[in-house]
Amino acid sequence: MRLLGIDVGGTNIKYGVVQNGLDNKIIYKNSIITEVVKGKEFVIRKIVSIIERCKQNYDIKSIGIGIAGLVDSASGIIFESPNFPDWKDINLKNELKVVDLPIFIDNDANCFAYGEYLLRNDKTIRNLIGITLGTGIGGGLIINGKLYHGNYGFAAEIGHIKVVPDGRRCNCGQNGCLEAYSSGFAIEKKSKEIFGEKITVSSLYQMALKGNRKAIEIFKDAFEKLGIVCAGLINLLNPDIIVFGGGLSNMKDFLLIPVKKVIQKNCYKKLYEKVKIEVSQSNIDSGIIGAAYLIHSNK
Ligand SMILES: [Zn+2]
Repeated sequence: MRLLGIDVGGTNIKYGVVQNGLDNKIIYKNSIITEVVKGKEFVIRKIVSIIERCKQNYDIKSIGIGIAGLVDSASGIIFESPNFPDWKDINLKNELKVVDLPIFIDNDANCFAYGEYLLRNDKTIRNLIGITLGTGIGGGLIINGKLYHGNYGFAAEIGHIKVVPDGRRCNCGQNGCLEAYSSGFAIEKKSKEIFGEKITVSSLYQMALKGNRKAIEIFKDAFEKLGIVCAGLINLLNPDIIVFGGGLSNMKDFLLIPVKKVIQKNCYKKLYEKVKIEVSQSNIDSGIIGAAYLIHSNK
């Protein structure tokens, strides 16, 4: 029996087939471009064709889908998604019922956190916080080995925790959120203020590696804010581990050094001493595996 995991992103739809039985191996994986501009129906048809193809080639028993935004996993309703401006209050489960298989839908960062938890397969880890650092910032919580959804399914919107009262405008419409300081979008915006032109995060990273002080300072500022939020989360949840994923997690020490320093300064010592702070080793696979195993996420 095999499970299909699909990570529906704004740029690419990544998907993979895994063997049920929690051995966490991807048998087959692939990625196609999303083409958001072609509209909702077009993207949904693409997802259906992925499912149909995988159904033909593998004995698929259930499908899990991860997508950014406010997702109610119980009903399969996507209330809003930053990557899909025309997807409002869409019941994706209904839209995909033509494929005639059980479908589980969740926030993409929840899938990442769950995938990290499964891939680690470490009995000493029961409580894990996953934070995805990309254009935006997502979060997922594993508490006692289960994905935590909160009251309406919207838990762990870590990117929208306030770090500066009345601070910079955030994409969510509020001010001063973490995402307005520590996301790829925010860092690129900051680069324009500092250098007079927008510089991509990867170019900025290259500059930082070569010792450009201004570039180093931009990352330090951004990730110290992230450290403040992590310190709060550690004091709140006493997790075993915080794992960073997403494109910005490739910044390694430019990310981990300021984050760890701020956590150390702002956490209860006993809590800080025991928590692991790491970067994902398997980023894309985690999202696919977490989505595929959504069928087990609350057992
Ligand atoms: Zn926000």
